[in-house]
Amino acid sequence: MSAKKIVIAIDGFSSSGKSTMARQLARRIGYVYVDSGAMYRAVTLHALRGGIVNPVSGVDRPRLIADLPSLAIGFALQPDGSQHTTLNGEDVEKEIRTMEVSSWVSPVAEIPEVRHRLVALQQEYGRDKGIVMDGRDIGTTVFPHAEMKVFVNASPEVRAERRYKELQEKGTPVSYEEVLANVRERDHIDSTRAESPLRQAEDAFVLDNDRLTREQQLDTLLKLFASRSGADAATDK
Ligand code: C5P
Repeated sequence: MSAKKIVIAIDGFSSSGKSTMARQLARRIGYVYVDSGAMYRAVTLHALRGGIVNPVSGVDRPRLIADLPSLAIGFALQPDGSQHTTLNGEDVEKEIRTMEVSSWVSPVAEIPEVRHRLVALQQEYGRDKGIVMDGRDIGTTVFPHAEMKVFVNASPEVRAERRYKELQEKGTPVSYEEVLANVRERDHIDSTRAESPLRQAEDAFVLDNDRLTREQQLDTLLKLFASRSGADAATDK
């Protein structure tokens, strides 16, 4: 039996492990994976490079909004099957993961014009379905009619620990306390902003990431996918 193609929305707080989960799921079921956070990070990188953000005055909104039409954000498929984020054709995958970008991304993502532009692009990606997208507002704003919605829960401490390990592996000099403070700050901005704040969609399946192993998470998602798509086996492509 051939399964129908669906849209899968995975939302949750920063460093909840949702990207790894979404990527694994997409690979397993042969779907396209889109990391919406990477798109907000690319806009933030542009703002940092252009001096559009400033530690004292914050984000220069009019300048950033004026630049938006000239920003081409996309993804380039790598030989190993992974995807790298591109900004005007340049591979910026590494640059968008720095602490500097992490500390500015939430104020940038609060700007309604930035969100409207990126949401439109994200909806375009999902037009033909067969997509797994992760972020903060995917099940609520980007794809409110997604056939499968997942909300990933994990405590700030567990998430900071995960992010701290990742940054250490990359050789970034940062303390656990700084990372925890950044996680808490982003949680606060992301869930209290006026424009599409992070919140759980009513029809989302809640996955508690503190208590599950990676295999258990994937297994849960595959079962959910099978029931929502009508696939007769969890690994049906
Ligand atoms: O997922 P990631 O942590 O890389 O996202 C970076 C930031 O981008 C988030 O903290 C949030 O401020 C913003 N974001 C958003 N909406 C999304 C995805 C990310 O506001 N759909």
